[in-house]
Amino acid sequence: MLLTITSTHQPAADLSYLLHKHPDKVHQIDLSTGSAYIFYPEVSAGKCTVCLLLDIDPIGLVRRSGGPRGNDFALEQYVNDRPYVASSFMSAAIVKAFSTAMNGRCKDKPELVSVAMPFEVQIAAIPVSGGEAVLKELFEPLGYTMELQRHPVDPAFPEWGESRYYTLTLKNILTVQQLLSHLYILIPVCDNDKHYWIGEHEIEKLLEKGKDWLATHPARALITMRYLKHQRSLANQAMEILLKDEISGEEAESGSENAEPEEKKRVHDLRLEAVRDELVQANAKTVVDLGCGEGKLLKLLLAEKQFETIVGMDVSYRCLEIAKDRLKLDKLPLAQQQRIRLMQGSLTYRDARIEGFDAAALVEVIEHLDEARLAALEKVVFRYAKPVDVVITTPNAEYNKKFDKLQAGQMRHSDHRFEWTRAEFQQWGNRIAEEYNYSVQYKPVGEEDAEVGALTQMAVFTTKQMIIGKNRFLSNAK
Ligand code: SAH
Repeated sequence: MLLTITSTHQPAADLSYLLHKHPDKVHQIDLSTGSAYIFYPEVSAGKCTVCLLLDIDPIGLVRRSGGPRGNDFALEQYVNDRPYVASSFMSAAIVKAFSTAMNGRCKDKPELVSVAMPFEVQIAAIPVSGGEAVLKELFEPLGYTMELQRHPVDPAFPEWGESRYYTLTLKNILTVQQLLSHLYILIPVCDNDKHYWIGEHEIEKLLEKGKDWLATHPARALITMRYLKHQRSLANQAMEILLKDEISGEEAESGSENAEPEEKKRVHDLRLEAVRDELVQANAKTVVDLGCGEGKLLKLLLAEKQFETIVGMDVSYRCLEIAKDRLKLDKLPLAQQQRIRLMQGSLTYRDARIEGFDAAALVEVIEHLDEARLAALEKVVFRYAKPVDVVITTPNAEYNKKFDKLQAGQMRHSDHRFEWTRAEFQQWGNRIAEEYNYSVQYKPVGEEDAEVGALTQMAVFTTKQMIIGKNRFLSNAK
C-alpha cells in the first residue's frame, strides 16, 4: 500500500525538514503488524516527493485480536484487502512516521510549520464506502480538488462491475500539519472500518487531530460516526463536544462572569484560592479540575508540591488551548510536565479517565448545565468518578441584588442555566451527599453579607466510603 505526497514548494527540501525525515535515506518504522517505509523518489529543484509504503503482514493480522473478521471456516481472515489498501493501518503509520509534523513542530525550521504549500497526494488504493459522493462530501469542503480512478472487481470479468476501490489523487494548498490531519482522519472514514477496538481515547484522537476543521466541516456527523466505528454513544459524546465548542464562543472566555462588576478578577482569584486551600487541606495528592476552563486553578495547584498528579478537563478545546498557553506546558521542566495533563471531555458522560482521583474541583461549572445534564454530571462525578473529596462552587443568587448592573432575576452570565440561593444549593448538595454516601459542608467564599450571604457558595464533599477509597482514604488521612 502506497501513499505518495508531492509538493512543488521551493526549496523542495523544506518538506523533508517538516517531515523530520532525511531525503537521502530509507526510513523504516515498525507497526503492530508489519512495517512502514518512508523514502523520497524525487527531490529536485522544483519538486519533492515522499512515499509512505506499508508492508502489512497478513498472517500477523490474523494472530492479533481485533484482526479481520472470519472464523476457522471462512477464508476472509486470511484473504482480505487489508494489506493492500489505505485503511486505519495507514493512519497508524502516518501518526508514527510523522508525529512531529502532525504536532505542528519543526525543530530546524519552525517558520515552515505555518506555511501553506501546494500538495498533490496519491493514494494507490482506497476502499470507499459510499463511493464518489462520499469522497466529494469529505474532501471538497476542505478545499481539495480530486481525480478518481475506480477499479473494476476484476478487469478480466468486466461483467462483475465496479469495486469499492479507487486510486485517489488529491490536490490542495495547505500546511503539512493540516494535510496529515485530514488524511489521518479521513482515510479510515472512507474505508468505514478500523483494525482495532475503540474506546473513549478514540474521541480524544479525533478531536485533537480534527481540532482546526472538524467542528465546521459539513460532514462532521458522518465523519464522527464512521471514525468512531458507529458506536453511537461515543459519536454522540464527540458531537456534543464539537457543537459545544462551536456555540460556546462566549463560554470559552470561561470564568469571565461578564455581568459581575469591576472586581470580578479579584473575586475569581479569591474563589480559586479558597478551592485550592480546601484541596490542600484534604491532603489530596491527585486532583482533577472538572470544567477547568483556562486553567487558572490548575496554575495555583501546580505551585503546590503536594499535588503529584493534576488533571484539567473541559469540554471546550479552545479553553484547553488557552490553558496550555497560560500554563506554558511546553516549556515546563520535564518533572513539572509529568505532573499535569489536560484533556477534553464532557462531564455528562461517564469517563474512566477521571476515575480514581483523591479530589475533584468544579469551580463555577454546574450552573452552566441544564437540569438533565446536571443530573448526568451528578452521576458521572459522584457515582462513577467518585473522588474522595469534591469541591464545588457556584454563584449565590441571593447576593445578586447587591449588583447595581443586574436587574431583578437576571443572572450573572448569559450562559448560566440557573443560579441558586443558599437553600437551593444546600438542598441539592444534601441530596447528593445522602445518595452517594458523602458528608458535606457549606462555606461562603468572599465577604459575607448579613442578609444575603457571600458572593460565591462552596460545598465540600468527603466520601464516607472507606472500601473503594481505602488506600486513598489512608493517604488522605495522613
Ligand atoms: N473552572 C473554570 C471555568 C469556569 S466556566 C474557572 O473557574 O475559571 C465553566 C467551564 O465549564 C467552561 O470552561 C466550560 O467549557 C465548562 N463546561 C461546561 N459544560 C461542560 C461539560 N458538560 N463538560 C465539561 N466542561 C464543561
